[in-house]
Amino acid sequence: MKFSPFLKVEVPITFKDQPGVQSALFYTDIRVCNLNCYHCHNRSSYRGNGEKYTYEELSEKLEMLKLLGVELIIISGGEPTLEKDLKEGLRFLKEKGFKVRIDTNGTNPEVVKEIIEEKLTDGFAVDIKFPLLEEYAPTQLKRFKTILYSTEDVPDEKLYEYVQRVKKTKQIVEESKLPYNVFRTVRYPLLTESELRFISENVKSIPHQINPFYPVEE
Ligand code: SF4
Repeated sequence: MKFSPFLKVEVPITFKDQPGVQSALFYTDIRVCNLNCYHCHNRSSYRGNGEKYTYEELSEKLEMLKLLGVELIIISGGEPTLEKDLKEGLRFLKEKGFKVRIDTNGTNPEVVKEIIEEKLTDGFAVDIKFPLLEEYAPTQLKRFKTILYSTEDVPDEKLYEYVQRVKKTKQIVEESKLPYNVFRTVRYPLLTESELRFISENVKSIPHQINPFYPVEE
């Protein structure tokens, strides 16, 4: 009995995440992420112990989803690119005939590149959490650190390193020209309207979704 990289949790079906495409959401371990974003919903809502679907269970689930008309499997997390068995799981989904999209925070360009080269996905949803610049004003540093780490108490270098890694991912994803690529930004109350506009203007090659912010209830 071999375990897949996908959590054994309810699989939501949605038309909204990839507009107009019937999609099902699978999750890698929600507890595994290298960021600690402001009001992260995935982490705050998960109460499980990390149990995963076996490949037999996954196969049954996928058969059912096919009957329901699901075309696209969206992989969310946690951060899916940190899951060591992700590629094996993606291969399985492709062999079953599904299109795949991976939702990523963009911090792992090396893995994103490998997945594209090995043709294991049909797109990525990459988070652009704030404008990706070479330098920030002190007030921006404070706000953006809070968005990424839920605290201002983080060295500037850490934030600048994040920016360089996401820029790299953005470029790799743009160049891939995969059909289900999308950039996403949450309308955090810590972002100004002009910062949101700036992000949209800088991701013109790929659709940009601005998603509403919902605070997590303590
Ligand atoms: S990158 Fe996603 S999963 Fe990770 S902390 Fe941020 S919102 Fe949560």
